[in-house]
Amino acid sequence: MNYRHAFHAGNFADVIKHIVLARIITYLQDKPGAFRIIDTHAGAGLYDLESDEAQRGGEWLTGIARLMQARLSNETVALTKPYLDIVRAFNPKGELKAYPGSPLIARGLMRPQDRLVACELEPKARKALIGVLRHDEQARVVDLDGWMALPAFVPPKERRGLVLIDPPFEAKDEFERLGEAFSTAFAKWPTGIYVIWYPVKSRRATDTLVQAVARLAAAAKPPGDCLRLEFSVAPQLDGAALTSSGLLIVNPPYTLQGELKTILPELEMPLGQGGAARFRLEVPKPYP
Ligand code: SAM
Repeated sequence: MNYRHAFHAGNFADVIKHIVLARIITYLQDKPGAFRIIDTHAGAGLYDLESDEAQRGGEWLTGIARLMQARLSNETVALTKPYLDIVRAFNPKGELKAYPGSPLIARGLMRPQDRLVACELEPKARKALIGVLRHDEQARVVDLDGWMALPAFVPPKERRGLVLIDPPFEAKDEFERLGEAFSTAFAKWPTGIYVIWYPVKSRRATDTLVQAVARLAAAAKPPGDCLRLEFSVAPQLDGAALTSSGLLIVNPPYTLQGELKTILPELEMPLGQGGAARFRLEVPKPYP
């Protein structure tokens, strides 16, 4: 395992993923019933933006730093507030020095009745995550392969909640593994909300995954919905940092698509690199 999220923390892909994560958790807060967040590939939790890794690529400078300075409509300010309030809480002096990863964003939006399970396999990242969540009785960090945890941890006993599937896509077969693990998990818990992150490099790989997931969702009883979001900040050049990423959301809250239609157009200018960014938001078809 070579992947270190510290190089990428707070980049455009994190920003889009974490806005969506926070919108879904905010929706889950509307009902008093407890929910559980299952983060299958959780990362280190908190990233030092002054570290060598973060400084080297400087990816956060074109991600969270741009968003924090963007002029947004009142509506988008309100919709991104739950996420940005958490980022601000980790930067109390105003200057951006730290970036919270998905477990801390989830944790920041949980109520006393809610729970978080976070899997992280890389020992240093896991140790860091255990450190930031120490003494936290609502959060559990597990030393378990996320691909095993995904089917094993569902359905949660609360029967409400969200599974974030955010692997590093280092292995060549990661798209296939994701499809297989999702299929087993979804069969056990067809009413859960699943958020699947993917890099957009091969159109064939992404379309195959999206169609397979959409087919499974459509065949469930009652049928589940899917929402596909892709965000591209620049054309992808060979060997360059990732410029386009996707999220596939299974059983999204009915409010999410409308919220994203408000938020995403306002992120095209601030997050674009050498021109405006572009997004795609659609309900995917199960068949080509
Ligand atoms: N979800 C995090 C966030 O949004 O802040 C970022 C996670 S990063 C993209 C992927 C993480 O998965 C890395 O920290 C990596 O060490 C970890 N990882 C890689 N393979 C894994 C596996 N099989 N099971 C669990 N974690 C794994």
